[in-house]
Parts: sequence; structure tokens; C-alpha cells
Amino acid sequence: MQGSDIFVWDSQFETGLPELDRQHRHLVDLVNSLARMLATETDSIESPLLSVFDELADYVTFHFGYEEMLMSTVAASKSERAHRQAHEDFKARLEEARREAKAAPYEVTGNLLTFLSRWLMFHIIGTDRHLAKKLLAVKSGASEKEAELKASDAMVDSGEILLSAMNRLYDSLAARTNELLEAKRRLRWEIDSHRLTEFELRKLSSAVEHSPVSIIITDSQGMFEYVNPKFTELTGYGFHELDGKTPRVLKSGETPDIEYEKLWKTISSGNEWHGEFHNKKKNGEFYWDHASISPIRNAVGNITHYVAIQENITERKLAEEQFQQQKQLSDDIINSLPGIFYMLNEYGRFVRANPRFSVVTGYSMGEILAMSALDFFEAEEKQLITNKMREVFEKGEAWVEADLVVKDGRKIPYYFNGHRITFTSKSYLVGLGTDISERKLLEMELVRQATTDMLTGLPNRRYFLELASQEIARSRRYVKLLSVLMIDLDEFKSINDNYGHQTGDTVLVKFAEICRKSMRAIDVTGRLGGEEFAILLPETEEKEALDAAERLRRSVAGEKVEGEGGKTVHFTISIGVATLSPSSDDIDVLLSAADKALYEAKRSGRNRVVCFRP
Ligand code: GH3
Ligand code: MG
Ligand code: MG
Repeated sequence: MQGSDIFVWDSQFETGLPELDRQHRHLVDLVNSLARMLATETDSIESPLLSVFDELADYVTFHFGYEEMLMSTVAASKSERAHRQAHEDFKARLEEARREAKAAPYEVTGNLLTFLSRWLMFHIIGTDRHLAKKLLAVKSGASEKEAELKASDAMVDSGEILLSAMNRLYDSLAARTNELLEAKRRLRWEIDSHRLTEFELRKLSSAVEHSPVSIIITDSQGMFEYVNPKFTELTGYGFHELDGKTPRVLKSGETPDIEYEKLWKTISSGNEWHGEFHNKKKNGEFYWDHASISPIRNAVGNITHYVAIQENITERKLAEEQFQQQKQLSDDIINSLPGIFYMLNEYGRFVRANPRFSVVTGYSMGEILAMSALDFFEAEEKQLITNKMREVFEKGEAWVEADLVVKDGRKIPYYFNGHRITFTSKSYLVGLGTDISERKLLEMELVRQATTDMLTGLPNRRYFLELASQEIARSRRYVKLLSVLMIDLDEFKSINDNYGHQTGDTVLVKFAEICRKSMRAIDVTGRLGGEEFAILLPETEEKEALDAAERLRRSVAGEKVEGEGGKTVHFTISIGVATLSPSSDDIDVLLSAADKALYEAKRSGRNRVVCFRP
């Protein structure tokens, strides 16, 4: 702040004595320079203040001496005595101020300024002007008394001059005060913003100190300038050990040199670098860290420092490695499973399947993962599968046998099981499907063997009785008629005896063939044992049954087989016929009725049909 002078010289201050006015001007200059000292920001006000004191001392010696010399040319009046006294007071005041200057330079400067301003006002405008006017009057020949009166008359304008001088002083002080207030406001704002910055800096540095990650600051050459406590905790290196070193001390040899080259290239060209290092601690242990390194530039854009933030990721790396191994293991297991593996979410959608699933179904893995389990089943089995899947999610496990419908439309019988597992807090169904085609074939073969007579391929006794019971039940339900033929080959023992057992078998096979040819599709023929057969005729009344029996008897009698040694063999059958009635509504009763009729046919000569008569 280098404002204009606070005390402005005015022509009205002039006394008429040029030397006196020159000295007064000098004092005004000193006052203004004092005011400037106060307003100027300097490191120390003390030494300029002392030089002002020196100048004031010169002024006092010279000016007061000059004035007192002037005064001695006139007789001392009351005002001259007061004038001299004022000089003495001024000197005393100056001495005192000088003594205090060292201890309180600003206060002294301020007080001195006030004192000198006031002195200028009253001394120049009052006392000195009066003295000068009186001297000039005496010089022009007036008596002392006349001169005194003349001087006093001339002083009538003093009040006005003083007032206007004070007004000007007041104006300049007011302007200066405003400037000061403005400066103070600016200063306050600067202090506040500094305080804020300092607070932010403290916060930041505390964050760095307590950071859970390592923080390193290096100079532009990569030399350590700072490491935070976390870095020391992790690596074992304290800052004092790192003086003059670079982060190369952490090199483990496990990270390829090309990585370091890339890193330097990146950061020295002003870019941020992120990457992983396999580093070595002071104690030789290896660790993994993830680093972010960024350059710091100064105001003109040159890189002065690098800041590295390093996070220890050793545990994460190990966990990742372990996870990879476990995943590999589970993949290996799943891929080597002897069936199709599936993992379904709660909506039955595929989350995972093994390669065999793709091979078996003919769908690509991509297609499978876009499908739902139900897409692999026929319409009539979808409900069953839905229920079973629900069972897995509700009870924990379930199994089911169903046909897997593959891409080309084939149906393959499968045994599916399912277990509920929880993975990432969601429920899934995992399971294995096994191809049971062979088992199914075997089962069918077993059933066939259990129900079929091996020689003739006809239902055996047990199966015939089962089928017959079902037919009877159906007939009763729909109130339909039903008849049964009981058949026995005539004199079969003698065929065996005459042509051999093999020929007997051929005869039995031939008979079965004749039955198949001559009976209707709905008729059920069975071999009850030996050379004994029965045929069930649904929806057939007695008369029709007798006709059918007679046709069969005639067919048999008209056939022949070739026996051992090329001999032609003829054979006949006897048939007993019985029809279902309210009193014979179970298969045993019905068969025994037919058997009775058969017996009658044998007794009455064989190769004939007899109907049961109760
Ligand atoms: P009938 O006219 O009274 O029925 O006289 P039959 O000789 O047919 O009756 P019998 O019950 O005395 O003889 C039945 C014979 O059938 C006895 C048995 O050796 C023979 N036989 C039973 N099962 C078979 C078979 O599977 N193959 C052969 N070749 N013979 C069988
Ligand atoms: Mg017989
Ligand atoms: Mg028999």
C-alpha cells in the first residue's frame, strides 16, 4: 500500500520566510515517510524508523536553532517563551520515543505520526506563522508593540487554515483507513484460505501416514524420498535404510525386466502405470503387490516426483491360485463323470453341463446353456420332471427315470438324480444322468422270459392267467361275453415215442403257428404246460366259440410236419369250450369248466370239440 501523502503541503502554510518554509516542508516529508513506513509491508520497521529519528534530530537542531535565533532578534514576549517551551517539549518527546523505538517500533511510529501531524498543524499554522509575521513587521520598521498587534491581526485566518488542513488530513486518513480495512479483509481471506489448505494438507498427510496401502514417493530419478509406515510394515525397510536407494531394492527377479522397462517408459512420459509385481521383502520373503505409479509435475510441467501406491495382494493371489486349482479339479471331475452332468438353477435353466451332455444330446454347449431341462423331455413326461425338480429344491434330493429326447428326435432311457446345493447363496440342482438303455433291454428280456414260453413264443401259463384275468374283468365291466378254449394234443406221447422228442417239439411249434394264423388279434393264446394250450376269445359267445374251435381243429388236422428221418407226421387236437357266465366269472372256474369239456372230448374219441354243460 503506497498511497498518496497523508499530509499535503498547502500554500497557506507558508510563513513568508523561505528558509522556515523549506524546513517545514522537510518535516512534512518526514511525516509522510513515517506514514508510508506504517503502510508498507517490510520485514522490520526498526531501521527505517531509526533513520527517521536521525533526520528528526537534525531537523530539531537546525530548525529550532534557526527559530530561536530569529526569536532572539525581538524582545521575548509571552508567546516566544511558550514557543521555546514547546521546542523543549518536542525534544523531550522525541528522546522518549527514540528510547521506546526498539521495544515497540510500530506503536512508536504510530504515536510519532500523530504527534508530528498535530505539531505541524499547531506549530506551523499557529506559532511559526505568528513569529514570522511579527519579524517581518519589525523589519519593515514597525515597533515591537505594533508588530505584535499586526501579527495578531494577520492570524485571524488561522482558524480557517487549521480547519481546512484538518479536513484534508481527515480526508486522507479516511481514505487510508478504507484502504487498510480493505487490506485487512483481503488478509483475513488469505489467512482463512491458507488455514484451509493447511488443514487439507494435514488431513492428507495423516491419510498417507495411516493408509492401509503402501505409499512411496521418489524423486524424478526414482530415489526414495518418502515411504509410509505401511510400506515399512510390509517390506521391513525403514526409511533410513532407503536413503539414496530406489525401489529396485524390492526386486525379486521374478518380474521380467521388460516389465520394468515398460513401467519407466510409461511414467517418465507422464502417464500413470498400473501393474503387478512379484517383490521381495527385506527378510527375503516374496510377496505380490499391485502398484499404481503416477508422475507429479511442477508448475512448469516438469516431472519432479513419482508417487507409487502399492497394495499387497499376496493373499488374493494365493486364493486365486487355489481357486484355479480347485476349479480345475472340479472341471476334471465333472468332465470325467460316467454320465451327463447338469447344474440347473431354480427355474430349471442350465447353468453348467459337461461335454458329454453335448455329445449325447447333439446340442452345442451354447445351445444347452440357452435351454431349460424340460426341453429334453416329451410332453407327457414334462409334468413328472417338473415335480421331481421341485422335490429336489424342497427336500434336497430326488431321482427319476425318463426318456431323454435328443436333437435328432431319438429317445434314450435315462436315470436322473438331483441334489440341491447352495452356491453363492443361491440354490441349484446338480445331478448326473445315466444311460439305462441296456438295463431297460435286459429288463424287457427278463419280462419276456418270465412271461413267454421259450419253445413256442406264446404267453406262458402265469402270463396267460394274468391276461385272462384282465380280460374277464374288462368283460364284466362292459357286460360283454367271453369264451375260452382248452386244447390238448391227442396221443402226443406216441408222437414223441415214434418220431422222437425233437419232432414232438416241432409239432408244438407248428401248433402255435397255426393258432397265430387262424385266431383274431384280440384273442389270447397261451401254453399252459406240456401239450396243453388255452385260447381266450373276448366278446365271443358260445356258438361263435364253438365255430372258432371247430375251424382250429380242422386246420390242425389238415396240417403236417416233417419228422426225423423225413417222415411226415400228422397230429390232431381235442378242444373243450366254456363261456363266461355269472356263476363262472373267475378264470379258475372258467378254465376248469373248459377242462371238463376237454375231458369229455378225449373220452368220446379225441380230435373233436365239446362244449361245457354244467
Ligand atoms: P392223450 O391223447 O390222452 O392226451 O394222450 P397223450 O399221450 O397226449 O397224453 P400224455 O399226458 O400221456 O402224454 C403227454 C406227453 O407229452 C408226455 C410228455 O413227455 C410229452 N411232452 C410234454 N411236454 C413236452 C415237450 O415240450 N416236448 C415234447 N416233445 N414232449 C413233451
Ligand atoms: Mg395229450
Ligand atoms: Mg396232456
